[in-house]
Amino acid sequence: MTDTDKPHTPMMAQYLGLKADYPDTLLFYRMGDFYELFFADAEKAARLLNITLTQRGQSAGAPVVMAGVPFHAVETYLARLIKLGESVAICEQVGDVATAKGPVERKVVRVVTPGTLTDLELLGDKTESMLLAVHQGARNHCGLAWLSVTQDEVQLAECPPDELADWVSRISPGELIYSAGATPAFEARLRNLPVAGQMSISVRPDWQFDAGLGQRKLLDHLQAASLAPWQAQDLLQAQAAASALLAYAEHTQGRALTHIHRVRVQRAGELIDLPQSTRRNLELLQTLRGEDAPTLFSLLDTCMTGMGSRLLKSWLTSIRRDRSEAQQRLNAIAVLRDGPWTKLREQLKGSTDVERITARIALRQVRPRELVGLQLTLQKTSLLTPVLQGLEASLTDMAHRLQPPKGCAELLKHAIAPEPAALVRDGGVIASGFDADLDELRAIQTNCDSFLLDLETREKARTGIANLRVQFNRVHGFFIEVSQGQLDKVPDDYRRRQTLKNAERFITPELKAFEDKALSAQERALAREKWLYEQLLDQLQPFVPPLTELARALATLDALCALTERSLTLAWCAPQFVREPCLDIEAGRHPVVQARLAETSAGAFIANDTHLGPKQRMQIITGPNMGGKSTYMRQIAVITLLASMGSYVPAKRCRLGPIDAIHTRIGAADDLANAQSTFMLEMTEAAQILHAATPNSLVLMDEIGRGTSTFDGLALASAIATQLHDKTQAYTLFATHYFELTEFPADHHGAVNVHVSAAESGRNIVFLHEIQPGPASKSYGIQVARLAGMPAAVLNQARQTLEALEAQASTQQAQIDLFALPEVTEVLSNSAVDMALEAINPDDLSPREALEALYQLKKMSHAAQPPEMTTPAPSLRA
Ligand code: ATP
Repeated sequence: MTDTDKPHTPMMAQYLGLKADYPDTLLFYRMGDFYELFFADAEKAARLLNITLTQRGQSAGAPVVMAGVPFHAVETYLARLIKLGESVAICEQVGDVATAKGPVERKVVRVVTPGTLTDLELLGDKTESMLLAVHQGARNHCGLAWLSVTQDEVQLAECPPDELADWVSRISPGELIYSAGATPAFEARLRNLPVAGQMSISVRPDWQFDAGLGQRKLLDHLQAASLAPWQAQDLLQAQAAASALLAYAEHTQGRALTHIHRVRVQRAGELIDLPQSTRRNLELLQTLRGEDAPTLFSLLDTCMTGMGSRLLKSWLTSIRRDRSEAQQRLNAIAVLRDGPWTKLREQLKGSTDVERITARIALRQVRPRELVGLQLTLQKTSLLTPVLQGLEASLTDMAHRLQPPKGCAELLKHAIAPEPAALVRDGGVIASGFDADLDELRAIQTNCDSFLLDLETREKARTGIANLRVQFNRVHGFFIEVSQGQLDKVPDDYRRRQTLKNAERFITPELKAFEDKALSAQERALAREKWLYEQLLDQLQPFVPPLTELARALATLDALCALTERSLTLAWCAPQFVREPCLDIEAGRHPVVQARLAETSAGAFIANDTHLGPKQRMQIITGPNMGGKSTYMRQIAVITLLASMGSYVPAKRCRLGPIDAIHTRIGAADDLANAQSTFMLEMTEAAQILHAATPNSLVLMDEIGRGTSTFDGLALASAIATQLHDKTQAYTLFATHYFELTEFPADHHGAVNVHVSAAESGRNIVFLHEIQPGPASKSYGIQVARLAGMPAAVLNQARQTLEALEAQASTQQAQIDLFALPEVTEVLSNSAVDMALEAINPDDLSPREALEALYQLKKMSHAAQPPEMTTPAPSLRA
C-alpha cells in the first residue's frame, strides 16, 4: 500500500515508469551487481525461484518489497523462469553513472520469452523455440505465422478453425500470441487447445494484426515488391498474423530482425497428415510417458551438430506428399553410403551452431567465445568441400553452399583473442595487434612496473639520490619518495605531494603524465574494446546471409550423414516409390522395439512382411495379448513415415505408393484435462479418422470398441471396419480381440485375416511374433495373466468360469450377423422404479427406512436392465 500524499523516491518512480510498459512481464531492474525485482514481481519471483523476499526503505510512504538475483548468475534464473512459462524484461543501466543526476538512466534492452529465446544456454541444442501468431480472420478462418528468432524464415499458413489444433501441435510453439480483438469463443478455443499447457499464451493489441502492415513487413524482409513468388500474396489472414508476429519478436529483441529474409508457405494438402494422436502413438519425438527416449527421433538422431538434429526433427514432422525432396535425400544417402560419410562426419564433429550464432550476430547479442567457435568452424568447413566435389548433383551443389564467406574467418581471427573472456565487459576480448590504440592502452597496464623501475633508475642517476624510490599507492597515486637527508638534492621540477615523518613524496611532470595515462588506461581499454566489438559486429552484418546459407548446408549434410550412418549400422534398405497404390514391405521391423530388444538381450526381433494394395487394403489382425499386434502395426506406419521423409527403412525391401496421411487410433488414456473419458476420446479419434481418411491414407485401428460394453463395442468396431472398407478404402490395419470380426473378410473381399502366432506349452504360452495368414484360433488371456504374476487362485477361478462360459456359449445360437442392420431390442421399462421413487417422501423416512428404500430401488432397477448388461456376450464364444 502506498501513501498517495507522499511521492515515490526518484528510483522507484523510474522503476514504475519502466514497469508500466511491461505489466505482464517480470522486470529485472539492474542495480549494481544485482537484478532487483520489486513489489508483486518480487513476491512472484521469490515464490518461483525460492529466493529471499526483503523489505528495504520506503517509497510513497510504504516499505519497498524486493528480491534480487546476482547479475553473473542471471542465466540460471532466466532458464528456470522460462521453463515455468514466464517472460522477463531485462532492464540495464545505460546512462553514465559518474555524470548522472538522480538515478542513472535505465532501459529495457530485451525481453526474454519462451517463444523468442536466443541464448544458447537457454535453448536446448535439439529444440527450436517457436513463436506462433494466430489471427482470427473472416468467418473464423485462421491465419498462422510462426518463426524461430534464431532462424532466417517466417512460415505462413491458413486453416479452418477445426484444423487449428493439429497445426498448433505440429508447430509446437513455446509461445502463442493472438489479438485482443479475438471473440471469446475463439479465445477459449486457443486456450483449450490440447497443447495449451505446454506453451505460454499472450494477447497482443488488435491493431498489430493487420494484413497490410504484415505484407509490408514481409516485403521489407524479403526486399521484394510482391509476395507472389512465394505464393503468399492471397494469404491475408496469415499476413495479419505475420504483422503481429514480427512486431512482437522485434519488441522482445529490442531491434529489427534483419536476418529474416525467407518466407515459406505451408498448405495442408502438401504435407502428409500426421495428426497429434499419430505423432504421440508412434512415439516420434516423445515416448507415451513423455520422455525424450527411446523414440524414433532419438534412434535416428546421430547428428554431429545441434543444427543437424533440429533439421532432422523437422524432416520427421513435416513430410511432403510430393516425393521429389525425399527421393533427392535417398539419392544423396546412396552416394554417401559408398564412403564419404565417415570423412564428412569427422569434419562436422565439434562444429559450432553456425545457425544460432549467425542469428545472434544479426541481433548483436553474440558473445566473444561464440565468435571464436564460428571462426574455427569456418576454417573446418573448407575441408568438407573437396570430399563432396564430383558426387551426386545435390551434394555437389551443397559443396558450393559450404564455401565460407570470403574474409569472414580472417576477420574473426584477426579481431578476437584466441581465448577471450566470456563477456565483452570483462575485457581481454579483442586480439592484440588488431587496434594500435588498444595495444597501447594494454601496454601501459602491463608495462607499468618496468616503466617505474626505469624511471627510478633514471631519476637516481639524474639526482644522485641513491635511495630514491618511485612508488604507487591507491590514495596518493604515483610518487617519488626522498628521505629527509637527501632533500637538498631534489631538482626544481619535483612538486611536493605529501610530507611524511622521515621523507617527502614528490611528483614530476613525466610521472604525472604517466599516472594520468595508467590510471585511466584500464577503463579506457575496456571502453575501447566495447567500441571495437560494436564495430566488429557492424563489419560482420554483411556476412549474415551467406553464413545463414552455410548453416543450412551444414545442417543438411549433417542430417543426411546421420541417416546414412543409421542405414548402414541398422541394415536398412532404400525404399522404392511407385505410382500405383501399394504398401509392400518385406521383412519389416520396428526399429525402436528392435533396438530395445538388442539392448536388453531379450532376443531377436522377428521381421514380418506386409502386402497391401488396391485389391487387399485391410488386414484384420488377431492374436494373443503381448503377441506383437501393436508392434506390427506401428512398424508399418514407421516404415511408411521413414520412407516418405527420405530415409532408408528397417526392412529388406519396401515399395510404397502415394500416401497422404497416417492416422492411428491406438491405446487409451483419459484426457481429464479436456474432460474426455477414455471411451469418448476413442470415439472422437475414430470419428476424426473416418472423416479425414482417403484411399491414400494409412489407418491403424488398435482394439477399437474396447472402452464400452461388449455388444456396443463389437457393434461399433464392425461398423467402423465396414465404413473403412467400403467407403474410405484406406490402407487399414485393424487389430482386434473380437473374434467375430474375423468373419468380416468373408463378405468384404478387400480385407484379409492375419494373426500373430503363439504356441502353447503346457500352461505356458510362447510368443512367436510372426504374422501368419488367417485368424487366430483362440485367445490366451489367462496364460498372459499368468505371465503377469496373477495369483493362482484368481487364475483357477478364471479358468473355471471360462470353461463354464464356453460350454454355455456352445449351446446358444451360433451366430449373430454383425454386419446386418441391427434389430430393435426391447428394453424393459423403468417405469416401476419411477413410480416407486415418486411414492417416496424423504422427509417422512427414518434413516433406516431410507436405507431400506434405497436397497429396494436398486433391486427393482436391476430387474429393469436392458439385456446386454445381464446376458453373456457372444465374444465369449469359443
Ligand atoms: P496387446 O494386445 O496386449 O496390446 P500386442 O499384441 O499389441 O499386445 P505388442 O505390444 O505389440 O503386443 O508386443 C508386446 C511385446 O512383444 C513388445 O514389447 C516386444 O517386446 C515383443 N514383440 C512384439 N513384436 C515383436 C517381434 N516382431 N519380434 C520380437 N519381439 C516382439
